[in-house]
Amino acid sequence: MELNGGEMSLGKELAASKETVPDHEYWMGQALELAKQAAAAGEVPVGALVVLDGEVIGRGWNRPISAHDPTAHAEVQALREAAARLGNYRMPGAVLYVTLEPCTMCAGALIHARISKLIYGASEPKAGAVASRAQVLEQPWMNWRIEVESGVRAQECAEVMSSFFRERRLNRKAGV
Ligand SMILES: [Zn+2]
Repeated sequence: MELNGGEMSLGKELAASKETVPDHEYWMGQALELAKQAAAAGEVPVGALVVLDGEVIGRGWNRPISAHDPTAHAEVQALREAAARLGNYRMPGAVLYVTLEPCTMCAGALIHARISKLIYGASEPKAGAVASRAQVLEQPWMNWRIEVESGVRAQECAEVMSSFFRERRLNRKAGV
């Protein structure tokens, strides 16, 4: 009997090196938690945070209904908190994470705030003003350039939205 010796499958040893430095996915996860907070309050679930030098300096979630404020989008809320903390309405070097592609108002606010980088999750085909419907940040007359990265945890970010609207439709049907 011949032994088929030595044929050992040495599965690829994956060094389970855990990221020690928070990456885009990590911060987007925090923005997702803020989006869920909005959903729990019956607001369209969008969450945002401002990170400067690896530290969160502003958090926001969408709350125009509860705040009676049409400008209370997640991004604006996060920028307000960050600016208050810095004691400065301009925050070059800061990165803004948001679960959904910003609208025209928020894209404008990012420029006023001198944010250096915008990272968003899901695209907003109906009203997105960064890539989908308009490209506000790319206008040649804008006096500040913002680096943009999209699609970070996009599926989860989109799912938070779609499950919110799905639930709302069901509740309406059920007369809740
Ligand atoms: Zn907005």
